[in-house]
Amino acid sequence: MKVTIRNIRAICTAPANINLIVIKVETSEPGLYGLGCATFAYRHELIELYTERYMKPLLVRRDVSRIGDIWQLMNVNSYWRNGPVTNNVISGIDMALWDIKGKMANMPVYDLLGGKCRDKIAIYRHASGSTPEEAVDNAQRMVSEQGLKYVRIQVNGYGGVGGSQTSHEEKQDGIYMDPSKYISDTVQLFDRARKVMGDEIELCHDVHERIAPVEAVRLAKRLEKYRLFFLEDALSPEQSDYFRNIRQLTTTPIAMGELFNNPKEWDYLIANRLIDYIRCHISQIGGVTPAYKLAHFCEAFGVRTIWHGPGDVSPVGHAANVHLDLATPNAACQEWGNVNDERLMDVFSGVPEPKDGYVTVSGAPGFGVDIDEEKAKKYPAVNTVTLWTQVRNPDGSLQTP
Ligand code: MG
Repeated sequence: MKVTIRNIRAICTAPANINLIVIKVETSEPGLYGLGCATFAYRHELIELYTERYMKPLLVRRDVSRIGDIWQLMNVNSYWRNGPVTNNVISGIDMALWDIKGKMANMPVYDLLGGKCRDKIAIYRHASGSTPEEAVDNAQRMVSEQGLKYVRIQVNGYGGVGGSQTSHEEKQDGIYMDPSKYISDTVQLFDRARKVMGDEIELCHDVHERIAPVEAVRLAKRLEKYRLFFLEDALSPEQSDYFRNIRQLTTTPIAMGELFNNPKEWDYLIANRLIDYIRCHISQIGGVTPAYKLAHFCEAFGVRTIWHGPGDVSPVGHAANVHLDLATPNAACQEWGNVNDERLMDVFSGVPEPKDGYVTVSGAPGFGVDIDEEKAKKYPAVNTVTLWTQVRNPDGSLQTP
C-alpha cells in the first residue's frame, strides 16, 4: 500500500545557544516519520511559517517514495527559486524523505546512495587564540587530546579583534577587524604552526571572505610554503572570478562554497577546476538530493567535497553529511563543530561520535538520529539581531562577514 505524507512541521530548538530547525515529516504509516535539517539559524521563524503555510498544503497526501519528483516540485512551486529560506525548507523535507525511505528499506542512507566507499571520514575541528602563539598552543592540545589528523587554525576567530562594540558612542555596532593585522597575524600563525607542529598534521584556514580580492591572492601566495590542506573562502561569492588569479599564482589548495545556494555559483568554478574542495552547507542548497548530484559532478572534475559542518547545522544535518561522506568516493574530510556538546546529545540521540580523528555512523536505518521533542522545548530558539554578521573595518565601513 502506498505510504503518504500525513503532516509536516518545523521543530525549533537551541540547546547549544544556536537556533536549530529540524523538519519532521509524518506519514500515513503509524510511527513512521523522517527528520531533516532546515537550519537557517538567523531567520528561523520564516522556516516555520514557510513549512506550515506553503509546503504542508503542497505535499500532504503525496507518495513518500517519490523523492526526486517532490524535490523538483518544491524547487519550482514558488516560481522564484534558489533562495536560502526556500532551500532550507526544501532540505528539511528532502532529508526527512530520505530518512523515511531508509527506515522503510531497513537501510542506512549511505546504502541507499550506493553503499560505503570508506569506513570512516577524517574530521577537522576549529582551534583559535588571541595571538598566533596561543592559537598554535590550543591547536596542539586539541590534536593530542583528540587524535586529530586535520585542524583549522585562526587568530581571533575570523580575524576580528574580538567582542562587540555596542556601547561605544562613536562606533557603529559590530565586530571590528583590521585586514592588514589579520593578514600579518595569519602568516605568523602558519609559520609558527609548522615550526611547532611539524609537517604531518594537515592545517586549514578560513578567511571568511573578510579581505579584498587582491589581498586574498597575495595571502594565498604567502601561505604556499606552509602547505595548507585548504584555504577557505578567500573570496566572497560575488568576487569568485578572482579564483583564476589565485590558481595562476599559487598551489595553495582552495576551498569554497558554504554561502552558495544556486548551482550557477558552483558549476563554472568546478568545471574550470578553479577550486579543489566544494564546501556547501547541505541545507542551504536544498538537501541530500542536490548534494549527492553535486558530489558526482565534482568527481568528474577532480574536485572533492568537505561539507559545511559548523554549530549552525543540526545533528540530523551532521549525520546526513557523514552518510554522504561514506557513500561518495571524492569526499576529502568533514568539518566537525560542537556536534557532541552535552546539551545537543541530551536532545538528540544517535548522534555520530568521533574517535581518533575520524567519524562514522552506526548503520541504523535512515540517518539514525532522533529528537526528543519534550527535551527540545527546554531550549527555545530565540529571535535576536544578529551581530556577528556586522563586521566592520577600522574606518567603520562594513566588510563581508
Ligand atoms: Mg567556513
